[in-house]
Amino acid sequence: MTKEYQIIDHTYDVVVVGAGGAGLRATLGMAAQGLKTASITKVFPTRSHTVAAQGGISAALNNMGDGDNWRFHMYDTVKGSDWLGDQDAIEYMCRNAVPAVIELEHMGVPFSRTDEGKIYQRKFGGHTLNSGESMAQRACSAADKTGHAILHTLYQQSLKHKAQFFIEYFVIDLIMDDEGICRGVVAWNLEDGSLHRFAAHIVVLATGGYGRTYLSCTSAHTCTGDGNGMILRAGLPLQDMEFVQFHPTGIYGAGCLMSEGARGEGGYLTNSEGERFMERYAPHAKDLASRDVVSRAITIELNEGRGVGPLKDYVNLHLEHLDPKVIHERLPGITETARIFAGVDATKEPIPVLPTVHYNMGGVPTNHLAEVVNPTDQNPEKVVPGLMAIGEGACVSVHGANRLGTNSLLDLVVFGRAAAYRAKEVISKEKNVKPLRSQDGDEAIAKLDHLRHSKGSLKTAEIRLNMQRAMQNHCAVFRTQELMEVGVHKIKDIVASYKDIQLSDRSMVWNSDLVEALELENLLQQSLVTINSALNRTESRGAHAREDYPERDDVNWMKHTVARLKEDKVSFTYRPVHLYTLSPEVDVIPPKKRVY
Ligand SMILES: Cc1cc2nc3c(=O)[nH]c(=O)nc-3n(C[C@H](O)[C@H](O)[C@H](O)COP(=O)(O)OP(=O)(O)OC[C@H]3O[C@@H](n4cnc5c(N)ncnc54)[C@H](O)[C@@H]3O)c2cc1C
Repeated sequence: MTKEYQIIDHTYDVVVVGAGGAGLRATLGMAAQGLKTASITKVFPTRSHTVAAQGGISAALNNMGDGDNWRFHMYDTVKGSDWLGDQDAIEYMCRNAVPAVIELEHMGVPFSRTDEGKIYQRKFGGHTLNSGESMAQRACSAADKTGHAILHTLYQQSLKHKAQFFIEYFVIDLIMDDEGICRGVVAWNLEDGSLHRFAAHIVVLATGGYGRTYLSCTSAHTCTGDGNGMILRAGLPLQDMEFVQFHPTGIYGAGCLMSEGARGEGGYLTNSEGERFMERYAPHAKDLASRDVVSRAITIELNEGRGVGPLKDYVNLHLEHLDPKVIHERLPGITETARIFAGVDATKEPIPVLPTVHYNMGGVPTNHLAEVVNPTDQNPEKVVPGLMAIGEGACVSVHGANRLGTNSLLDLVVFGRAAAYRAKEVISKEKNVKPLRSQDGDEAIAKLDHLRHSKGSLKTAEIRLNMQRAMQNHCAVFRTQELMEVGVHKIKDIVASYKDIQLSDRSMVWNSDLVEALELENLLQQSLVTINSALNRTESRGAHAREDYPERDDVNWMKHTVARLKEDKVSFTYRPVHLYTLSPEVDVIPPKKRVY
């Protein structure tokens, strides 16, 4: 097989797949410590989805003088996770938030400022002081373009430290050896059609989320969870894939995000009766309750006939009562998006919104050092040598069953940084990078070749749309056994239909048809795992709301789902939630009912 294709080999200390916030923070950290580092990315680094992040990045800096500290942040994150988050990792993240964000400031991120010149911090859903007493001002922001500001700075810093970039290279699969050690990756250069094998001590997957399994999502078209697909094909598991976050305020129709920052600045929601209905669902936090709570409240309002518009199928987000100066200064992107995608002037009229898929809590299981784990019965923390995962594609798990806003950008930089530290430790003990065997990568290249010449009857876009519709209809905000069983059958059939795919472009150069077909395989495998995991979990927790099992069940379900895929069949084991902290400086937060 490989004889037909010319293959170019490379050797690095570290290969980072993905150049979003997570990948770039790891890349620059690795390169700054003198590791020979390659960053491979299918899109230009600053076009990664991180660029779209609006609202902010959390860190208990206490810049607004509200007495914030990282222990409050930790409490909120554990509670937000509905006690599925690992408390050691959450401690690590909330504590390291402070130095990690200050580092970003020193690297040159142009944060918005207070009058005294400190980083400006706004309120955000679920972030409170003293275990929910009042709302905290913890979200550091650069207007409503925080991701854009961070991503550009991290890219510049990576270049400064001489990391090497392989831009518009599509990574197809991991190279694993017979002992289960990761040795490298196989990639396709989209620009000239050449194929490449990268050997490395450590591969870091930073390939982002898989929002595109759903019909309506806020994430970019590139968010196809490719790394998660590679993990499944390597026989490794994904964790907690049933937990899919719906953001309460996607623009009606287009799905584009109206940042929670809008409510953080004083925006609120109303139904068709003009009622501020969040006061009924979350008497304290109201419109700033956490995302799963607000998304469910909106869905109930719609289901009970109090939606706005001719079809009663959306609610209104109000900003028009705010000072236009605040809107223009703090939310310029929001007003632009509202104008373009909803035809609305946000300073004068409400914006029509609807819950939309926004974030994947599940992903590649890792420990707090960013090392991938492959749990076994004997050792739930067994590390996969040579493999790390960070960012939205990873499941550390700091977000558990539900992520708080601004905690993802934080997760990217804290664990990107952790990966760099850990890689340096591991690699300094290693000798030369082990050379690849001649057959390494053959399977991936055979798959590419097969797809490229496929002559079935279904277009990639057709299969993808079927999958997105099935996921949207059968695995959304509210779930039941009946609904999901039908969904599982549909997804199985759609997965089977992939064998009948038809590609019309046979070239190797900029063949977007082939890229989308490879991405679709990844999406399909994740859909299967997600809907089966959701059917399997018979409780409600965080973003996973079962109408037939409305209560959280800590006795049977305070555990992580560990799902594997073999020949299109999903199997489950479990991994204990870490109900312990890293240091004695903070206590474990015991489970209790989650109310806002
Ligand atoms: C509209 C929007 C707004 C958001 N706002 C906020 C916010 O305000 N605060 C917050 O905390 N979070 C926010 N989030 C969430 C957060 O932005 C994301 O979770 C985060 O940016 C994901 O970063 P990442 O580095 O993991 O992946 P991404 O930024 O998605 O990057 C993935 C990278 O992987 C590469 N890649 C993928 N597959 C391959 C492949 N096969 N081969 C080679 N390269 C590949 C891509 O090229 C890309 O460089 C928001 C998300 C969205 C969608």
